[in-house]
Amino acid sequence: MTSMKRKRAELLNACQSVFRCPLCRTAMAVSQYQSLICGHGHTFDISKQGYVNFLNKSVKTRYDRQLFEARHELFERREFFSPVQKEIAVIISRIQSPRKQAAVLDAGCGEGSHLDAVCRLLQPAFSVTGIGIDISKEGVLQAAKAFGDHNIFAVADVADTPFADSSFDVILSVLSPWNYKECSRLLRKGGTVIKAVPRRDYLKEVREFFFGDSPERNDTAESAAVRFQTGFQAFERKRLCYTKTLSQPDLELLVKMTPLTWKCSDESIQRFISRKAADITIDIDILIGTDPL
Ligand SMILES: [Zn+2]
Repeated sequence: MTSMKRKRAELLNACQSVFRCPLCRTAMAVSQYQSLICGHGHTFDISKQGYVNFLNKSVKTRYDRQLFEARHELFERREFFSPVQKEIAVIISRIQSPRKQAAVLDAGCGEGSHLDAVCRLLQPAFSVTGIGIDISKEGVLQAAKAFGDHNIFAVADVADTPFADSSFDVILSVLSPWNYKECSRLLRKGGTVIKAVPRRDYLKEVREFFFGDSPERNDTAESAAVRFQTGFQAFERKRLCYTKTLSQPDLELLVKMTPLTWKCSDESIQRFISRKAADITIDIDILIGTDPL
């Protein structure tokens, strides 16, 4: 066994109480640094990068290696989403009191950049363990490679997670589908869900370039906020809007990371990325709900 796998299995071991078997829903434990096993013998192996796959069949998505690599590059090295990550960390430190053991779940973590950034920002006031799940094995593999020393990652469905009731202090959902029922099952009393949803101007320059100006586009953030608000005892909403100037190589990364351009012609994509630089707008609503009803 590699020392990396051993180290990551130890991290998993320290948090094993949050897991429950997705098949029979009983408690699980790490066995010989190799797998998570429940009392009925259902076994989920720890991969050599240290993540666990809880799905019994792989789900085909268009979220491939290139897309997650582009995201990693844009989020980590170009700090495209740093203001959002910082805001989320500030919100958590304001609402949740500092504690020794805080568990943060990123439901739909993709390549793991947001979870890792938020957890790093929370320390040292919080001694936090980040756990990220995503249905895309490719995303989880990259997350584990890049951030697996300090966070746990697993391939799992956000609507049917392998976690015990009341396991998390904070659940994040950043531009990702979520499941209210599952979130409220997983949250501890007083726990907070932080959901980032795109607003109308999110990546508006990309939309305008490829699809023309479409001001009548529905603002889905409004209906998302209304639905979200009704689920919690306490609710807040914070808008974050900023512009980043992306240079030519960054524009190429942006095209790779967003599903917006999946149906666009190669010719129009070439025109988009051949510019020296462009301003790109990030317009996000951060919905904050504490204590699900
Ligand atoms: Zn089981």
